[in-house]
Amino acid sequence: MIIDVHTHINNYHEERVVSLNDCLDKLTDTMLENKVDYSLVLSSYKVNEHRPSTKQVVEAISGRNNLGVVAGISYLNYNYRDLKEISEYLESGLIKGLKFYPGYEPFYPNDIRLKVVYDMAIEFDVPVMFHSGDTYAPTGKIKYSHPLHIDDLAVDYPDLKIVICHVGNPWIKDCMEVVYKNQNVHADISGLVLGDFSDKFERYMKKEIEEMITYAGDPKYLLYGTDWPISNMKSYLKFMNQLELPEEKKELILWKNAADLFKIDVSKL
Ligand SMILES: [Zn+2]
Repeated sequence: MIIDVHTHINNYHEERVVSLNDCLDKLTDTMLENKVDYSLVLSSYKVNEHRPSTKQVVEAISGRNNLGVVAGISYLNYNYRDLKEISEYLESGLIKGLKFYPGYEPFYPNDIRLKVVYDMAIEFDVPVMFHSGDTYAPTGKIKYSHPLHIDDLAVDYPDLKIVICHVGNPWIKDCMEVVYKNQNVHADISGLVLGDFSDKFERYMKKEIEEMITYAGDPKYLLYGTDWPISNMKSYLKFMNQLELPEEKKELILWKNAADLFKIDVSKL
C-alpha cells in the first residue's frame, strides 16, 4: 500500500491551459504505473487559469475514490465566503486537511490572523500542512518558511495536528528537533528534487533522512509524499526503497501514518 500525501494539479510550465480532468487523469495514470493507491491533491493559495480553486478540485475529484483534497488557504486573500466554504467542506468530509504557504506569502505560522482557521482544523480534527524550507520561486521569502517557526504554533495549539512539508529542506536538523519535541508535528518528505534524484543527491538525502530517524526515533511522524508533478514518482519510490530501514518502518512512512492522520479508509482502496 502506498499513500502520497503531497501532489498538485497546477500547470507549472505549460503554455497552454490543460483541463482539470486531463490533469487528474495524468495523476491517476502515474499513480497506477507506480502502484500508488491513494493521493492527496493540494490546492494552491492562488487561483488562476493554471491553478484551480479548492471548489473546482473538490468537484472534479468526486467519484474518484483514490484521491482526496487538501485545501490551500491564502494568508493574504481569504474572506468570509472562503471560511464558510472551508467549514462546509470540513463538515461534509470533502476536504482532508488545510495547506498554508509561508515563504510564498509573507507570514509566520503562528500569526494570530489564522487562529480562526486553526480552531476549525481542531474542531474537525484535520491536519494543517505548511510549506517549509526553500521556495520553488526566487520571489519567496524564506525566513517565513523556516521550520523552527512551527514550534511556536505546535506549543500554542497542542491539539492542532501539523505537517511540515519537505522536512524543512535544507533546514532538516531544525525540522527533526521540532518533530522530536512536539507530539502533534509530522513531516513529509515531498519536493526534495525537481524531477529525478541524481545519484549524488540521493546519497545525500538518504543520509539526512536516516539521521532524522536516528535522532527523532521511530518514524511515526514521517509521511511519504512526492510533490508530483514537480518531483517524479518513480524516482521517489526508488529513494524510499534504498533507505536502510526495516520493512515495518517503511510501511509507517509509505501509508500507515498517513492513513491515521488523514483518516483515509484503506479498506475501500
Ligand atoms: Zn507542494
